[in-house]
Amino acid sequence: MTEAPEIFARIYERHGHRCPMSTLGGRLAMAALGLLADAEASGEDELRGYYFTRTCAVDGVAEVTGLTEADGGLEVCPDGRHALRLERGGVAVEVELTEKAMQMAGEYRRFCYEIEAGWDDLDEEERRVREIRRQAWLDTLLPRLWQAPDHELVRVVREDAGA
Ligand SMILES: [Zn+2]
Repeated sequence: MTEAPEIFARIYERHGHRCPMSTLGGRLAMAALGLLADAEASGEDELRGYYFTRTCAVDGVAEVTGLTEADGGLEVCPDGRHALRLERGGVAVEVELTEKAMQMAGEYRRFCYEIEAGWDDLDEEERRVREIRRQAWLDTLLPRLWQAPDHELVRVVREDAGA
């Protein structure tokens, strides 16, 4: 297994497994925090976050931003978009996953359906073999998601002062 950069290792620990969407949630959050910093949103002000679909990405966002649903700093408002909005000090930024990012996550989901087919009837050996295939897939895919430049994975939807 390729060792994950520290921030992604922490995401997977919080999340309980390695997967593309938790990784991409982390990438969205890093990009959004970068935009807030560029806009010189004061670090003194309270940060608030909104994520617009309930997926594994929420844990990635929580780990990177420090915001959680439990303490109310992060709200999940499902409207079908894989988008993150961050607000701080009157500045709001919104970013969403690109087609390419969604495509890579979608290929992994289809692969999972394939290897999980008939899971309940599989013997232990076959399950072990399939799980190894899953981990091998992740070992190939996840480093691409750690390393891809922002513009491949993240699209800026809006960036404005005076939210
Ligand atoms: Zn996941």
